Amino acid sequence: MTFTVAAYAAQSATSPLAPFSIPRREPGPTDVKIDIQYCGVCHSDLHFVRNEWKFSAYPLVPGHEIVGRVSAVGGKVNKFKVGDVVGVGCMVDSCRTCPSCKEGLENYCEAGSTFTYNGPDKHGTAAMTYGGYSKVMTVDQDFVVKVPGNLDLAGAAPLLCAGITTYSPLRYWGVGKGQRVGIVGLGGLGHMGLKLAHAMGAHVTLFTTSPGKVADANRLGADEIVISRDEKQMEKVGNSLDFVLDTVSMAHDLNPLINALRRDGTLCLVGAPEHPHPPLMVFPMLFKRRSVSASLIGGIKETQEMLDFCGKHNIVSDIEKIPMSGINAAYERMLKSDVKYRFVIDMASI
Ligand code: NAP
Ligand code: ZN
Ligand code: ZN
Repeated sequence: MTFTVAAYAAQSATSPLAPFSIPRREPGPTDVKIDIQYCGVCHSDLHFVRNEWKFSAYPLVPGHEIVGRVSAVGGKVNKFKVGDVVGVGCMVDSCRTCPSCKEGLENYCEAGSTFTYNGPDKHGTAAMTYGGYSKVMTVDQDFVVKVPGNLDLAGAAPLLCAGITTYSPLRYWGVGKGQRVGIVGLGGLGHMGLKLAHAMGAHVTLFTTSPGKVADANRLGADEIVISRDEKQMEKVGNSLDFVLDTVSMAHDLNPLINALRRDGTLCLVGAPEHPHPPLMVFPMLFKRRSVSASLIGGIKETQEMLDFCGKHNIVSDIEKIPMSGINAAYERMLKSDVKYRFVIDMASI
């Protein structure tokens, strides 16, 4: 059984997002039905809408930073009740049986996790899953998380992707007191990485291409700020950092960032540009046993842990609320690095 919901979709890689109706399933035994209140706007939404990663399927309804209220639950749901404030991130299902799923790393499911949008819909409600740029969604309870009551709900939405995508590598690489950490790019992911690394007790250096963001970077917790297009400033920070998290959405030269690492330091890429980065030089890595790695969102258990950490430290995203009809203009601003620091769609406006 399905019902129809108002949404915004892209019909092709070159068409703007526009109103569209989508089917959703009535809750099955383990499903939770959610009235979506806010949905964050991730740069991945833009990459998908414009088919920059070359695996988009249309119509495409983006959105994977979803918060809302439970409006109905299936008969076997035991984690949530009607009225609960909940979140849904980048995944709505996974195989649940592979070693990665068993370790709580559904994001690395060996059969491929079901993404919240643009993933084959296992329930057959539509060919592909549809995301959070919509009024209502139905999700299995195992892929729903609780939003701490003290957090502003609109500001909490971006935690579901920008928050977990930066929290997970910071935790995996053991970032904490006494560590010197770099965050590259002050956008949606970058400003969350900055807040989280600061809250974890690290000394944080923020790399930005936008001199106009310096005051904000200080306010958000940066101990040092480097204008990454200034070679002198880049040289000065050489050999100094234990861990660098790169959140940049466009291809750029990674070699100066590798030079900023100390011996045994790691550069972790979470930004996922359309085009490859310029080639990596081996010698700067070789002479200091430096690593280059990457990280994909985070598991469900870790997403809950991140939300609880944010609840405890009162961390939410700095947001600009927009109506659903403002989405295409928001994408254009995102491309100009003009986001402070996450757009969040108010779903009451759809
Ligand atoms: P965003 O809000 O647009 O921020 C990206 C920032 O990168 C910009 O604000 C800008 O910061 C910097 N930047 C842009 N163009 C640049 C260039 N040519 N050279 C250097 N810096 C540049 O994007 P986002 O939502 O944070 O997402 C960032 C990337 O992460 C996207 O590619 C997205 O798809 C990816 N992502 C990956 C995962 C994952 O699981 N790995 C999850 C979510 C998103 P400054 O103005 O400070 O320079
Ligand atoms: Zn995202
Ligand atoms: Zn799996």
